[in-house]
Amino acid sequence: MINRIVVVGSGLMGRGIAYVGAVGGFDLTVVDIHEHALENAKKEIERMFEKGIALGKITSDHASNALRNLSFQPDLSEAAREADLIIEAVPEEIAIKKRVFETMEEHAPAHCYFATNTSTMSPTEIASFAKRPDKTIAMHFFNPVHKMPLVEIVRGLETSDETAKTIKEVAEKMGKETVVINEFPGFVTSRISALVGNEAFYMLQEGLGTPEEIDKAIKLGLNYPMGPFELVDLVGLDTRLNNLNYLHAKLGEKYRPAPLLEQYVKAGRLGRKTGKGVYDYTIEEEWVKK
Ligand code: NAD
Repeated sequence: MINRIVVVGSGLMGRGIAYVGAVGGFDLTVVDIHEHALENAKKEIERMFEKGIALGKITSDHASNALRNLSFQPDLSEAAREADLIIEAVPEEIAIKKRVFETMEEHAPAHCYFATNTSTMSPTEIASFAKRPDKTIAMHFFNPVHKMPLVEIVRGLETSDETAKTIKEVAEKMGKETVVINEFPGFVTSRISALVGNEAFYMLQEGLGTPEEIDKAIKLGLNYPMGPFELVDLVGLDTRLNNLNYLHAKLGEKYRPAPLLEQYVKAGRLGRKTGKGVYDYTIEEEWVKK
């Protein structure tokens, strides 16, 4: 029975997972090594509750109960102690995930399940950083977590049926639809999304059209809800590049990152989170402020 969930990493994804988890009735602790990230996450989650109430998606009673069960903690070893499930949402870098899983193993009780929100990596490999492969699984949420209906649940080689069933129930309690699949690099969604997004950067690099034109063609011609550049600005160009590097190493040439994407990342144009990615959001914000 899962009551206490710890979310590790309070970035774009961690804060969204914390929100849907708290709304789903779980006792939820958010952990981040960066104090400022935790503070931002707290403010952002409170804003999500306010917006949810204003839009009639959640009652104020429900929101105050959920907020009461939500806490923030910089120390994973402390937070892990009473967890029933820990969901890792730290950056897509194997060395960071390894350190986090080692700490989780050291401090979490034996009954605790481990989930990773990795977009591309092998849950079997991530499970190898701890000592409970039967209780480890990928729980792949989508951005923005409170709006996107799916959790892609990915079983590692030794994930038990019982773990897959329990995690499916947790995701459903968070209000999500699920698919349960077996591991392969990139799963279903990231493999397609990385390919389409990368190809769009190659097109831009080749001078095929402006970002607006390419996005419009994909949305209206192929019926995608968002253009590839709108999406990568939301996902984060650094996150997309990390995904592509991993898929390139595992699946070969067709995932080689477009040089233009690498250049944007080097320039610090990481998407909405830095104010500028393929598109410039500082202009929009200035306009909103007026
Ligand atoms: P992010 O950079 O926004 O957030 C990561 C957070 O982890 C930061 O707040 C950072 O301070 C924190 N952190 C770093 N090292 C830590 C540690 N050792 N302990 C605790 N906290 C630590 O990243 P994100 O976009 O939220 O992505 C997180 C994970 O989710 C990645 O694996 C990514 O591939 C996956 N993911 C991302 C998206 C997306 O659209 N961005 C979608 C699905 C899955």
